[in-house]
Formats: sequence, structure tokens, C-alpha cells
Amino acid sequence: MKEGNIIEPLVEVKGLTIEFPVRSGLLRAVNEADFVIPKGKITALVGESGSGKSTMASAIMRAITVPGLVSGGSITFDGRDVMSLGKKELQAYKWEQVSMVFQAAQNALNPVVRIKEQIMETFLAHARSKPYTEKQMTERARNLLDYVRLDPDRVLNSFPHELSGGMKQRVMIAFSLLLDPKLVILDEPTTALDVITQAYIFDILKKIHKEMNITMLLLTHDIGVVAKTADRVGVMYAGNVVEAGDVFDMFKRPKHPYTAKLMKAVP
Ligand code: ADP
Ligand code: MG
Repeated sequence: MKEGNIIEPLVEVKGLTIEFPVRSGLLRAVNEADFVIPKGKITALVGESGSGKSTMASAIMRAITVPGLVSGGSITFDGRDVMSLGKKELQAYKWEQVSMVFQAAQNALNPVVRIKEQIMETFLAHARSKPYTEKQMTERARNLLDYVRLDPDRVLNSFPHELSGGMKQRVMIAFSLLLDPKLVILDEPTTALDVITQAYIFDILKKIHKEMNITMLLLTHDIGVVAKTADRVGVMYAGNVVEAGDVFDMFKRPKHPYTAKLMKAVP
């Protein structure tokens, strides 16, 4: 797929193929995919459930750990080969360069630990290039919680079950920003939430993108979300990136029949 007008790519995926061993053989979740995430934009990856979005994003995050799943292709981040990062480099890559809010990430919060302790654990586990004092950590956590429009005092002292779904998702967004990454990947960040909360969260994401100058990759099955939020979009269908480009152009002139079909779903 040809990509026009790219100023500066942050991530370049080329010919990526990912296969999962299943009972009947190998399931090809991503098939020779080419995909670019330009610096400083919100890029969406849209496609129906099972089309390969989470698998491709996990490979960018290097969250696919079983060796041999990636059977071909390359991923570069700021020009560096992501696949060949060693253990130490990988520790500095995750969270500090790229972070990911996984699908249903709120459920990953530890139910018996207060948010404050969970934030400190995240700092201690992932801060590699910059050491933070406890005071700096608390201050950053408070600022970020405030940024996602949560009351820091209340949230830091809460257990996860004391927060609503939308609040927990905003906590997860604050987590993803803790170490000031260049790229944040959000996997279906609002899927389980009501429409008003969804709109509220996209509003916050756009603000973060603009004011913190963070590149975002948004995975969604909802083309309406793409229209409202993204600058660029890749369309996945059965493991293939069938189309990629400017959101406006794609809405005006979808090239692939699947994309055209998808457009009909926009209200
Ligand atoms: P999406 O995020 O677009 O819904 P996924 O990337 O989760 O799609 O899945 C793509 C395909 O890979 C699906 O057929 C899914 O069942 C399969 N798949 C995903 N993860 C695994 C896994 N760990 N083991 C086996 N198959 C998987
Ligand atoms: Mg998914």
C-alpha cells in the first residue's frame, strides 16, 4: 500500500506476518502488513473483531513474547529495529518510548492495592533512563490524574472497585503517560463505556495529543470513532492492511471495497 505525504514516520511496519499455532496448524493473524504511524498524529487502525489489530499493535509494543510468532517482516521505531532489541534495550523501550493501554485494561488493575501504590510500582518497575524521587513520582501522578480530569486526592487513595469504568479507563490513560512516551497505543479504549463517557474520553485523548505532543495509535472497530478522532487511518481486513491514508481522503474516496462497506456504517 502506497502512503502519500508522510512527513516523518515514527513507526514503520513492513511486510509483517504473525502466525499463531492453533490445533489445525498455523493461524495467520497478520499477513504481510505494511503500516506507518507518522510522528505527531493520531492514527487509527480500524477493522472488525479478529482482523488483526491487537496482534499488530502488540508486536509494535513488543508485547508478543513467544519466540517464532513473528514469521516475517520488520518494525522500526524512530529508525531503530524493534524486533532485535535486547533485554536491556527492551526495558527502556517499553513505557519510556511506547506504552499501551490494552483492551479491557481497567480489569488489569490490582483489586486489593490502592491506585497510589500501583502508580508507584509502575514507576519503579519501568523508569530506566531517569530516576524519579518519591516526591517527583507523586507530583507527576497527581498532575496526570488532574489532566485526565480526575480528583487526584480521591483517586490516589481509592481501590479500583471504588471507581467507575470510565474513571478506571482514565486512570489507565494516566498510567500510560507516566514515563512520557513518544507513542501511546490505545486498544478499544472506550468499547465497554456508554456514549457520553466515550465522547468525554476522546475529548481528553485529543487534548493530551495536542498539548503533550504525543503520537497516538487508536485501535477500534468503530469507524465513527475514526471520523471523530483520527488524522490518519489504516484499515485491516482478515489480517491484511487493505488501505491506509488520510482520514479525510479515505472518507471521500475509499479505495478498497471493504472500506467502502465500512463507510456505510457511519451515521
Ligand atoms: P482484533 O484485535 O482486530 O480483534 P486480534 O489481533 O485480536 O484481532 O486477532 C486476530 C486473529 O488472531 C484472530 O483470528 C484471533 O482469534 C487470533 N489470535 C489472537 N491472539 C491469539 C492467540 N494468542 N492465540 C491464537 N490465536 C490468536
Ligand atoms: Mg483487539
